[in-house]
Amino acid sequence: MKKTQDPLLAEAGTNTRLAHIGHDPSGYHGFVNPPVVHASTVLFPNSSTMEKRSQKYTYGTRATPTTDALCQAFDELEGSAGTILVPSGLAAISVPFLAYLSSGDHALIVDSVYAPCRHFCNTMLTRLGVEIEYYDPEIGAGIEALIKPNTRLIHTEAPGSNTMEMQDIPAITEVAHRHDIIVTMDNTWATPLFFKPLDFGVDVSIHATTKYPSGHSDIVMGSVSANAKHWPKLEEARITLGICGAPDDSYMILRGLRTMGVRLEHHQKSALDIATWLETRDDVARVLHPALPSFPGHAIWKRDFKGASGVFSFVLKADAEKAKAKAHAFLDALSFFGLGYSWGGYESLAVPVNLSDRTIRTAPTDGALIRLQIGLEDVADLKKDLEIGFAAAAAV
Ligand SMILES: *Cc1c(COP(=O)(O)O)cnc(C)c1O
Repeated sequence: MKKTQDPLLAEAGTNTRLAHIGHDPSGYHGFVNPPVVHASTVLFPNSSTMEKRSQKYTYGTRATPTTDALCQAFDELEGSAGTILVPSGLAAISVPFLAYLSSGDHALIVDSVYAPCRHFCNTMLTRLGVEIEYYDPEIGAGIEALIKPNTRLIHTEAPGSNTMEMQDIPAITEVAHRHDIIVTMDNTWATPLFFKPLDFGVDVSIHATTKYPSGHSDIVMGSVSANAKHWPKLEEARITLGICGAPDDSYMILRGLRTMGVRLEHHQKSALDIATWLETRDDVARVLHPALPSFPGHAIWKRDFKGASGVFSFVLKADAEKAKAKAHAFLDALSFFGLGYSWGGYESLAVPVNLSDRTIRTAPTDGALIRLQIGLEDVADLKKDLEIGFAAAAAV
């Protein structure tokens, strides 16, 4: 029995699926993991086969058994028709935008978007003649008022980067499809385990696989998964641009997926524990975590999402003139929490959040915004570390 087509697998639980999707051991001598194929040239048996390209693999940039295994795993998790691999999470945003947008088109981008996406839109996309407009993450069905005759794409991200706003994805996709507009979603925070965008009407699901799929802060890679309607254009763009996933990185991301379910459970539990604890503190103005009932987007999160990952933010209470100094004192006093970008690895991180590029959801006025990534360490140790940070902030 070809394991990846086993009907039992389609109905299996998350962790069972993560353990068996992607590679079929019977297709490669029984080895549990796929081979790492380093390739440019693929030989054809004769000229006729070459002329018709009538064999599965034709060239290293197109596909290899390694990249196929990872793409297949993503298609199973996302319910997509096809997945492309790209060299970073940012490329997983820019490549589909280049695939679907043309000069003269109008694109609606959520204001709480991953900041480098905004840079791409405001520089290269604008130069190529695409009209960019940012919208409020909590706009919901109200997005209809922003649609113009040339609106071609709506980009969503929920929760939003750093400020964590939830979006009413079903309401937005319903409006978009009535106007024949493509909806893309950056689903990095939830992973396909906690939210499946295509089930909610999204056409294209984007991941920085750099984050939870990798899980160990040692790979940068992205994936883009499209439904049947929008897959051909995405695949065409990948071929036209000459973009491909590296074999070793593809292998490592597939390896990371095997344990992503159990890691996420731990991230979720620890992050919620710490978020709840932070909420009780006098030196914290607000905790921005969608799974907290106090969070404005909580009802949407509860309705649509199956879980919460380990990244959230909080506002360190401070007067405007002391906010930066308090944030620096807090961050500089931490030991287990590293000061560094990205997230999704095994180790905890804390970063000061800069919202100077926002036009709608601007920086808080009640203190300094700090984003935490809760790693796999023991919660008691992380709380002790944060206590030291708060004491340092209080001394400012
Ligand atoms: C990190 C991140 C990206 C970009 O991923 P890189 O691999 O670092 O380029 C994209 N979207 C979101 C939401 C992210 O957090």
